[in-house]
Amino acid sequence: MIKRIAILGSTGSIGTQALEIIAENPDKFEAYTLTANRNADLLIRQARQFQPEFVVIADEEKYAYVKENLSDLPIKVFAGSKAIAEVAEMQSIDIVLAAMVGYSGLAPTISAIKAGKTIALANKETLVVAGEIICSLAEIHKTPILPVDSEHSAIFQCLAGEAFNQIEKLILTASGGPFRTKSISELQDVTKREALKHPNWDMGAKITIDSATMMNKGFEVIEAKWLFGIPVEKIDVLIHPQSIIHSMVQFVDGSVKAQLGLPDMKLPIQYAMAYPDRLANNYPRLNFADYPSLTFEKPDLKKFLHLALAYHAIEKGGNMPCIVNAANEVAIVAFLQDKIRFTDMADIIETAMQKAAFVEKPIYDDYVASDSETRQIVREIIIKSF
Ligand code: MG
Repeated sequence: MIKRIAILGSTGSIGTQALEIIAENPDKFEAYTLTANRNADLLIRQARQFQPEFVVIADEEKYAYVKENLSDLPIKVFAGSKAIAEVAEMQSIDIVLAAMVGYSGLAPTISAIKAGKTIALANKETLVVAGEIICSLAEIHKTPILPVDSEHSAIFQCLAGEAFNQIEKLILTASGGPFRTKSISELQDVTKREALKHPNWDMGAKITIDSATMMNKGFEVIEAKWLFGIPVEKIDVLIHPQSIIHSMVQFVDGSVKAQLGLPDMKLPIQYAMAYPDRLANNYPRLNFADYPSLTFEKPDLKKFLHLALAYHAIEKGGNMPCIVNAANEVAIVAFLQDKIRFTDMADIIETAMQKAAFVEKPIYDDYVASDSETRQIVREIIIKSF
């Protein structure tokens, strides 16, 4: 049976790699729906190549352009974020690959879960912002959520066949990013170009900055908590600069299972799309002799302030992770626009955490309000102070 895939965020790093996998396995997958934020030209090229049933561009100003450029094909074209949430719940779709960037992934993922679609989740911000709502909806609608994030895919693979066994802890590995060996004072002067150059993984801009600050790992702790139902005290972060071990599970008998491979996002994407099968491919293989030393170290929370802030948000609970996520998204944009320095980002997020209204038991509308309040607060901080 061919699985029909809706790719939310088809022009991003995860989306384009998912389309490569679909092209490599035409007997297994079909690109049924493609959605993009504003990269109209790439969306048009993808649509011409893969001939999906539906195409959605979030940026409504680009609707006419996309529509016109696909007018010779029987592809239905829509625009706007509401349309993205609508196509995510269509009956003919088997898997929704949630690969949008940041908070924007929340609403369409919720509609896909409510429609009972299998979710291949690359958009971790969805769980960071509203993990409790996402997990309870997934339970009510019996919707499987399959991780695409490499660490969580590793844990998911380690847990295969272990349903009735108790977990002692999860060990999330982290590369440490491009600034692992820099001192605290050296971090003041790092440039955007340096921050965008990840040593091992080739990813989109937002997550690459999150890796440089290690906010990404803080978010992944939250993601793991929700995906696997494990309390945060039982989730360790371990720096492993070679990125060969993608994460580990330690069971009650002290035995540790790890999943290894070359750092290539196509592996976890393919695993989620083909689950529970493994598909043959010709990707490069891990040659252990090329990695004579796999090393490990503890993360420095005094240097990686973002990671400390993420832990603080987890402890505080409620809408605090939502506040941190919104502040982080706005701070990254300002950093990428050269408005603030690398080290300013953590200060800004910390201030936003103090200023935004805290809600202990948020419902969906609280998250929406909190997200927009925080963005406003951060924009004001940046205008006033930088
Ligand atoms: Mg990851």
